[in-house]
Amino acid sequence: MVARKFVILHDDSSFPIEYDTEDDLEVLRFQIFSITLIPPDEQKIVAVDDDDRVVSNETDLASLSDQLRLVSIGGDSEERSEGTSAEKSDAEMMKADEELARMLQAEEEAMMFQQYVAAQDSNEFGGRIRPYVSQILMYEDPVRQDAARKTVPRDELEEKALVSLAKEGNFEPSHHEKDYAFLLQLLFWFKRSFRWVNEPSCDRCGNKTIGQGMGSPLSSELAYGANRVELYRCTSCPTITRFPRYNDPLKLVETKRGRCGEWANCFTLYCRSFGYDSRLILDLTDHVWTECFSHSLGRWIHLDPCEGVYDKPMLYEKGWGKKLNYVIAISKDGVCDVTKRYTKKWHEVLSRRTLTTESSLQAVLRTLTMERRRSLTPQVLSALSLRDSNEQEEIERNLHSPDDASVSLPGRQSGDKEWRIMRSEFGSDGKNSVSSSSCPVRTCVDDHVTNIYDSFLPILTHFVEDDLPVARAVEILDMIKQVLMDLKTAPFKTRKARSSSFPEQFLHALEGLLLALSLKSEKDTDGKSLTICLVGKPTKTALALPVALDALRELVTDLSKCQKLSKDSLSFPFLKQNRVCSGSVLASAEELPSGIATAAFDGIQESKWEDPNGAKGCWIMYKTLYNQMQQLIAYELMSANDAPERDPKDWVLEGSSDGGSTWQVLDKQTCQVFEERFQRKSYKISTSPGFQANLFRFRFLCVRDVNSTSRLQLGSIDLYRSHR
Ligand SMILES: [Zn+2]
Repeated sequence: MVARKFVILHDDSSFPIEYDTEDDLEVLRFQIFSITLIPPDEQKIVAVDDDDRVVSNETDLASLSDQLRLVSIGGDSEERSEGTSAEKSDAEMMKADEELARMLQAEEEAMMFQQYVAAQDSNEFGGRIRPYVSQILMYEDPVRQDAARKTVPRDELEEKALVSLAKEGNFEPSHHEKDYAFLLQLLFWFKRSFRWVNEPSCDRCGNKTIGQGMGSPLSSELAYGANRVELYRCTSCPTITRFPRYNDPLKLVETKRGRCGEWANCFTLYCRSFGYDSRLILDLTDHVWTECFSHSLGRWIHLDPCEGVYDKPMLYEKGWGKKLNYVIAISKDGVCDVTKRYTKKWHEVLSRRTLTTESSLQAVLRTLTMERRRSLTPQVLSALSLRDSNEQEEIERNLHSPDDASVSLPGRQSGDKEWRIMRSEFGSDGKNSVSSSSCPVRTCVDDHVTNIYDSFLPILTHFVEDDLPVARAVEILDMIKQVLMDLKTAPFKTRKARSSSFPEQFLHALEGLLLALSLKSEKDTDGKSLTICLVGKPTKTALALPVALDALRELVTDLSKCQKLSKDSLSFPFLKQNRVCSGSVLASAEELPSGIATAAFDGIQESKWEDPNGAKGCWIMYKTLYNQMQQLIAYELMSANDAPERDPKDWVLEGSSDGGSTWQVLDKQTCQVFEERFQRKSYKISTSPGFQANLFRFRFLCVRDVNSTSRLQLGSIDLYRSHR
């Protein structure tokens, strides 16, 4: 055996390599591949101090100089002449095929390389996984589960889950759909309530601290698995603050703080305590997260509690540029390798998997799984192995499929076909500087908004007929608002509120509003006070209550500015009758989840539509329900919660009666300024009187300050039709 040391020069880096010259050149090539990721067949190796002699199979490796330069050949053949688009897509297809072939080849080579370098002994690998197996068994303890459940505002999360489904039009979710929606709310809640700790603040004075290394754990700390305790010295008092790294999730439920290890550990307990099939996911390059099985999607879902992110397995490799090697799922039902779910570069990942060979790894995981499944019944065992094999199939299928980030985003991906086709036509409409849309057609679930606006007519009519002073009218509206606020804070399934001073003569006028909120009023036995309670589905009320509160708030503000109530108070823009609703929306783009297109039509001030590239032009289209022809007579736009520079400044509103072939301008505005946040601006349509359309489009030409933002955002868009 002749050992040699070479220095491999590549690009601007150099890599030392130890090498046995009795092995042939192929082995050297694999070694180089392992460090540079240049596949062996693309390597040209030249000896630097030897007149740049190219190294071949015939070269005597023992005689070579110490420095070898590596040149990457192939892979740079992209400079082909531009063909027609058809030729180009053929060429692209071929390139994709070549790419796949290259990747498969690289996988094979990495596997061979692994045979050389990986430790045959797999005990070490098993040793690293085993502690986590005991860890996850703690999640099965009823005491720990109970402690975790007690800290969760279950009712509130259930309500949020149901409202999120209702916003997609799903008022009758299945058991599994509800479960999945609740899981996501649990994730968001956890992210809000857990604290990330770099250096803890001083226990005594709350000031900043500086790390002092490790201390030895106290018995009270050891009791909750804190084998490691970090010490921090205060920067302004002599106190030393201890940061025990607890492993027992029971303690973490109480402390609610830590780094990703603590977060994932504790969140996985929460998932188990609500009955989700859950796994702790261990990424050996230094991160931990959770997976839960979704019965509504029929697959395992990635959940990262630190990030509040779900179902985005490419987050690490693509988003963070992480070089993954082993990603192992550990649950009470076994241990398995899920690395392939989190990578699209399996061949590269393989080349880094040198802790053990693939076959010994599989053997270790099998043993650990068998230990976990020893006492299960044959029925349970066969259900588990069916799920295992389905998962393997799914992972393999996704591994070589192109990565499409939008697939995993929330929201419905449905919509009718013609409109999708139309969307591509708009995409090519260059003169409107329309960027191509990546968001689907979405349905507005907003009939409650229209019903609430309509319900103000009888109330205001009553005020006018009674010739009520403005102050008294405001007082009554405030009374209604207070009852609705009480209802909002009550448990959503059994909402109930009482009012003891509501004037009886207005009860009748209030009926429309209560109906729009799926509520009813009952007179108490004393004949004076009033109880408001649910009459329909709790979800309907949960969805509509915030809308009614926003609308009432606005009405009170508008009313307070009036000197006197008159017949004029019963018309637009004071009263917002015949609001168009339940149509579908398509936008040039949207920001998910916070700037979804339908948020412009949901009647909630706080939510908004946002086009991340809309500052210099973007659009949003609205198609009426069942393509009904409507004559628009007015519309309103409301500025969003923040960033005034993103407000629209110039726009055109158009209507089409032939499915978008021709457009009629309905209104044009320039240099509009929203001075305040949540400011509503009302516009009457005076051009094209009598024109009927079933498709409307806003083309926003520019925002308030195009130089400081690329975005456009709007709090709301409301369209109003004629009475007909
Ligand atoms: Zn201090």
